[in-house]
Amino acid sequence: MSIIIKSEREIAAMRKASRVVATVLEILKTKVRPDMKTRELDVIATEEMTRLGAKPSFKGYRGFPASVCVSINDEIVHGIPGERVVKDGDIVSLDLGAVFDGFQGDAAITVVLGNASQQAKELVAATRGALDAGIDAARPGNKLGDISAAIQHHAESLGYSVVREYTGHGIGRNMHEAPQIPNFGFPGEGPVIKKGMTLALEPMLNIGDWRTRLGADKWVVLTSDGSLSAHFEHTIAITDGVPEVLTAL
Ligand code: MG
Repeated sequence: MSIIIKSEREIAAMRKASRVVATVLEILKTKVRPDMKTRELDVIATEEMTRLGAKPSFKGYRGFPASVCVSINDEIVHGIPGERVVKDGDIVSLDLGAVFDGFQGDAAITVVLGNASQQAKELVAATRGALDAGIDAARPGNKLGDISAAIQHHAESLGYSVVREYTGHGIGRNMHEAPQIPNFGFPGEGPVIKKGMTLALEPMLNIGDWRTRLGADKWVVLTSDGSLSAHFEHTIAITDGVPEVLTAL
């Protein structure tokens, strides 16, 4: 599978889808609070995306039943919202995808609720920083491995591990396009980054081991050792210089 270079018109469509994702994540961030059920977040996500004229891209994707992934504490990604009640001190990852005019946007944030531990807060900040490091390396002429290595270096230099079994990805008409973008790798390796590539970068950092396990519902992915995990994601477009972060408000 080759990496698709998007036209300016296609990137404009992705900008719209991505703006919906960013807007709805911002709404969810203000709404998530202790004692609410995760299913309430899914209701809000679906309503707000619909109001903004977009469709949730996760719903029905390989049978996923919801619009938003809600992954709490040792859950890394792909948590199905439901009856679980969010508690003070939890860290809650919200991952959202929208399709608008046939194009996708995909982003995730991790929200710290109330009196979380210093350890949890630092993990979340480090994960956000790892995403920024990856974005900073996403320049034309660099290699994809430069992005991977920048994320890994940021994470590991702060003492965290990066999840290896789930990766970032190309994005466009489809939520997952070539290439896969691991959160670990070597500078100078892999395909050359070119203007017009659109990529979803999504570091997942664990306090403990990088290994994962699949939950009982066969969707949620958890840390194998029960340690905390955080996740941030942006959809970006490669330009002549600094990448455009499409899912930033
Ligand atoms: Mg993604």
